Amino acid sequence: MDRFYLRCTRCHTKRKFELTGRCACGGTLLVHYDLEQVAHTLSRDALNSRIASMWRYRELLPLASYESIVTLGEGWTPLIRLPRLERRLDLSEVHVKREEQNPTGSFKARGFSSTISMLHEYGITRVAVPSNGNAASAMAAYAARAGMEAYVIVPRDCPGIIMEECRRYGASTFQVNGLIHDAGAIIEQGKAEQGWFHAGTMKEPGRVEGKKTMGLEVAEQLDWKLPDVIIYPTGGGSGIVGLWKAFRELGELGWLADRRLPRLVSVQEAGCAPLVSALRDGGSVRPVPEPVTSSPTGLRVPNPPDGDLIASILRESEGTAVEVTTVEIARAQRQFGFEGLSSSSESAATLAALLQLRESGWIAAGESVVLFHTSHADKYLNWKPSPAPPVVSSYAELRQWL
Ligand SMILES: *Cc1c(COP(=O)(O)O)cnc(C)c1O
Ligand SMILES: [Zn+2]
Repeated sequence: MDRFYLRCTRCHTKRKFELTGRCACGGTLLVHYDLEQVAHTLSRDALNSRIASMWRYRELLPLASYESIVTLGEGWTPLIRLPRLERRLDLSEVHVKREEQNPTGSFKARGFSSTISMLHEYGITRVAVPSNGNAASAMAAYAARAGMEAYVIVPRDCPGIIMEECRRYGASTFQVNGLIHDAGAIIEQGKAEQGWFHAGTMKEPGRVEGKKTMGLEVAEQLDWKLPDVIIYPTGGGSGIVGLWKAFRELGELGWLADRRLPRLVSVQEAGCAPLVSALRDGGSVRPVPEPVTSSPTGLRVPNPPDGDLIASILRESEGTAVEVTTVEIARAQRQFGFEGLSSSSESAATLAALLQLRESGWIAAGESVVLFHTSHADKYLNWKPSPAPPVVSSYAELRQWL
């Protein structure tokens, strides 16, 4: 048997690994590993002598050859404790996973180290991604490293510094007159003519695998004892899928002290909180109607590509989804500042959610919590690139620039 293959989350059909994220039934294709085979070369003890990057878990990433790895030193980020907050909230442990220390300043680096490595292995040379910003700059950096051509499309209110970053990595950079899904539609239209590989959320199986290493690291850094609660700022949701997958695989490998999943909490911003509505109303995830009023951050994904999968994971873990306001986020940003952490609003949203959930009693006294600090505040400085990347409303307009 191959070391890894794909399986559909809906119809459970298994198939050979390929560069697709979607099953004919509409389900999401996720990578599965022959964990018995993995256990021959990977053990908990062997990890001690491994490289301090996410590639320490290479047996649990979908590459046929490790020669294909495209790396900028991503992962193995610090997990730090906040003792003052623990005392104030009467919690046993509050940890912050410092994902802003990744290359390109966000955890998106993990997903693209894995995806670009995989595409590199398959000989892909042109990649395109719709993004709110951080996925665009991460993809641009890894594509540059692999010698691929990158095309990125972000909303017009994407932070200028991120657009400039994309250009410096050599990506053809565009602003869409619309939101992230409008950018995705343009890539779908142009991909055949341009020979683009569409690397958007859930379009291929590599990104979730890269994000999975966040969960593997938290487990290893906590000596294989998972926390009671993990709070994650959620947009497209592949981060949540990655964490869930990490804990399942570690459980099957027999490495965890206790196989019970942490309660996974998605935090979203008021104005664009499709998961919060679905969990509250009990149904499936419905797109947020326009106009979408929340801030231009990684959390603004009004129509997540497989929202129902995310919702089912939150329910399975007995977790929840909470929304926080821009005012709560700003307050949490200041509190993180007093701890020495410079936080983007996505990162600060996790602390705002912790305060809400502790206040309501959903998180009880004495519990342990991990917050995901997904990107650096500097990414959102009010700075304008000059000249600005072209603004497009359709593929026909974008095509004139190529
Ligand atoms: C993309 C992004 C998120 C959302 O992550 P998903 O895995 O897409 O849900 C959160 N925070 C930051 C900083 C991001 O860039
Ligand atoms: Zn299927």
